[in-house]
Amino acid sequence: MSKDILNAKADFPLLKQTINDHPLVYLDNAATTQKPQVVIDALVDYYTHLNANIHRGNHSLAVQATEAYEGARRKVAGYINAEHNHEVIFTRGTTESVNLLAYTFGEKFVHSGDEVIVSQLEHHSNYVPWQQMCLRRGAAFRVLPFDENGELDLALFEHMLNEKTRLIAVNQVSNSLGTVNPVGEIIRLAHAHGIPVLVDAAQSVQHLPHDVQSLDADFYVFSGHKMYGPMGIGVFFGKEKWLEALPPFLSGGEMIDMVTPEKVTFNVLPFKFEAGTPNVAGAIGLGVAVDYLQQFDQHELQKYEEDLLGYGLSLLAEIPDLIIYGDPTHRSGILPFNVNGIQHYDMGVLLDTMGIAVRTGQHCTQPIMDALHISGTVRASLALYNDRADLEKLAYGVKRAIKILKR
Ligand code: PMP
Repeated sequence: MSKDILNAKADFPLLKQTINDHPLVYLDNAATTQKPQVVIDALVDYYTHLNANIHRGNHSLAVQATEAYEGARRKVAGYINAEHNHEVIFTRGTTESVNLLAYTFGEKFVHSGDEVIVSQLEHHSNYVPWQQMCLRRGAAFRVLPFDENGELDLALFEHMLNEKTRLIAVNQVSNSLGTVNPVGEIIRLAHAHGIPVLVDAAQSVQHLPHDVQSLDADFYVFSGHKMYGPMGIGVFFGKEKWLEALPPFLSGGEMIDMVTPEKVTFNVLPFKFEAGTPNVAGAIGLGVAVDYLQQFDQHELQKYEEDLLGYGLSLLAEIPDLIIYGDPTHRSGILPFNVNGIQHYDMGVLLDTMGIAVRTGQHCTQPIMDALHISGTVRASLALYNDRADLEKLAYGVKRAIKILKR
């Protein structure tokens, strides 16, 4: 039997706190999610009983730590339905994963006059590394704009593809607007031109279907800390054929096979991309987060989160002078808004005095804010442990803040 979502809150010790004398309402999940007790226990247990460096030791602890680390890789590979476990590379997070590809792919496959396409809905993490790589390689950095609903135009995207296009980088869910982008269609269109696609799944892997094979994603990246896992651990998934073709990113220990003054040969996958001592505890913790997530019926979970978002948006829409940004056909996890005449920062500070944690500002998406001609938004973002009462408290808090600030 799958686990009951309505009881999930009890699994997260941090949520039992009061903040500013109010029970915490945590709605900053797009920035980072809280961790269930099982993940916290796994980290303590690792450092209490298992800590050893992996892959190179033959004593019992080294063997057990290696097995636990590789077990975590298998769990993550299973979660995203990778064809091979060695297609899962552990990194520090989405940002490092995108940089891994920007450096290696750029060095090997991007030359002067080539083009790379990103969307205007990207987080800086999936924007700046491509812009910088294009500058290094003399390539054109092209940006697919979003429309008045906060959606990408597929016809325009298809029009932008040409024989110079080397790679597409796009997120599955925008961290600022919550738009669910048609990455399946984008991949299909790009593949028709033989172009690979990187999917930034930082805001989708914990909320939406996460099957890299059915999506046919060439590269798929995400962060552990946004999916109930520890900070400092993330994933770079690449199809085997691409990982074989790409040069290593960081070099040093672990990623080599033979080293002489004249020559080096590289280790097999996935180790070729994991130079140095990795975040073993983080990977193990992420594996436990995956186990935790998989206790829920995945369809039920999606339905629950979708209903919750709809409920939150309807509560906010009733508030006079409140503007909700974007009106995409599919939205996931994000409630972006402002109130006329009130600074987003002031709204955030007042909500915090009521124990409500939201984020304000640009959310690392200046191109989105520039396109909307605003300096930022208030962003409430959801996780599986949120409930209707959290959103009622948010709506009540926003109304109270309006009263105070407009007095
Ligand atoms: N992409 C998206 C869509 C994100 O939401 C974030 C985090 N806000 C990132 C990339 C960067 O993730 P990290 O900071 O964990 O590397």
